[in-house]
Amino acid sequence: MPFSVCIVGGGLVGALEAIYMAKRGWDVHVYESRGDPRSEVVTEGRSINLAMSHRAITAMEKVGVSEEVMRWVVPMKGRMIHSLDGSTASQPYSIRGECINSVERKRLNEFLLAEAEKHPNVKVYFQHRLSEANLDSGHLVFEGPDKRTVDVNADLIVGADGVYSLVRSNVMKRVRMDFQQTYIDHGYVELHMEPSSDGNWQMDPNHLHIWPKHSYMMIALPNPDKTFTLTLFMPWDNFENLKTEEQVLDFFKREFPDVVPKVGAEQLVKTFFRNPKGSLVHIKCKPYNYKHRAVFIGDAAHAMVPFYGQGMNCGFEDCRVLHEILDKHFGIDSSGKPPSPDELANALSEYSKIRYPDVTTIVDLAMYNYGEMRHLVTDWRYFIRKKVEGW
Ligand code: FAD
Repeated sequence: MPFSVCIVGGGLVGALEAIYMAKRGWDVHVYESRGDPRSEVVTEGRSINLAMSHRAITAMEKVGVSEEVMRWVVPMKGRMIHSLDGSTASQPYSIRGECINSVERKRLNEFLLAEAEKHPNVKVYFQHRLSEANLDSGHLVFEGPDKRTVDVNADLIVGADGVYSLVRSNVMKRVRMDFQQTYIDHGYVELHMEPSSDGNWQMDPNHLHIWPKHSYMMIALPNPDKTFTLTLFMPWDNFENLKTEEQVLDFFKREFPDVVPKVGAEQLVKTFFRNPKGSLVHIKCKPYNYKHRAVFIGDAAHAMVPFYGQGMNCGFEDCRVLHEILDKHFGIDSSGKPPSPDELANALSEYSKIRYPDVTTIVDLAMYNYGEMRHLVTDWRYFIRKKVEGW
């Protein structure tokens, strides 16, 4: 019998992990609760685009999928700070011209799933929601289409099932897991800026745009079709005070006067009420594995607030680090040879130990960066200290 890996969750991290696992020659089955994104219309509201940095690019490079992705990103070489009077100031990220990159979530997910499916040993099942897991026997139960029950047996279970991970909950029942989940008092809503009437970008496309407001902020990332996705992050109380169309419009006219004509007053109000308001949570836990049987990665292991733009980046890095450790224990082997349970348990425990300090630091940095983006970017003394003290 070939060694079978069941990946729960076919989001960004699960899809990349499937490619990594496929290259080991193991039998890979990905179960995703949603439908196939390639046959679904995109819905606004949940981070349409993401900032992709070196971490994710390196992880994709290792399995040969970065080149294609880099063709359709929009590089952002710095922040563009928008002031109330409409003036803007560029703050480059690097003196060497390094960039972060705006990438479309849906396109990236679809591409990675398609790349995974190119491997004959990968099968992806959509509309399959994990409902039960016995991590000792490796027996999983999924609710398939039409509420049909699907039984699966796996040698190794990889939880890439996001912030509310059921795989993590099951590991938690069996190991002495430290676990911390923190919601912040701020939420977010996404808005949309179309190209100008002559089909051009309405703002500089090679920047991440920020409207810092000290206690809250709005940002905008460019999309290849010359639109921008704007995300307003602010305290829930502020959202609750914006009840009527008039209140929303007054708020934007007062706080973001340069944005209103670019988005259009009617469109702005419509999308503000139509789009969901998302909550922001971070998770710290350890360990990330149960013996040789289960490991969880991505948001399941370390969901973080989005202010450092590192959630997906770190999730991709999880795949790279995990497989470097597997390579160390089992060699770079694509023969599909089953690992010994003891050695696999050692490798997964090593992953848990090595990964924890790095990802928890990034979870903290992500929270810190909210203060930097909404407030410190407006304070020139901060930048002088940063330069002089070299941090
Ligand atoms: P998810 O994307 O949540 O995918 C998990 C998958 O598992 C989903 O497809 C889900 O349907 C499936 N699933 C869940 N439960 C089950 C189950 N029981 N059975 C089967 N399938 C299941 N990151 C960045 O790097 N850069 C950014 O700029 C950035 N911006 C962000 C902006 C916002 C507003 C937000 C909210 C997040 C942002 N992130 C960013 C974070 C990034 O979105 C996440 O870190 C990333 O999506 C994590 O990927 P994942 O695959 O681990 O989890």
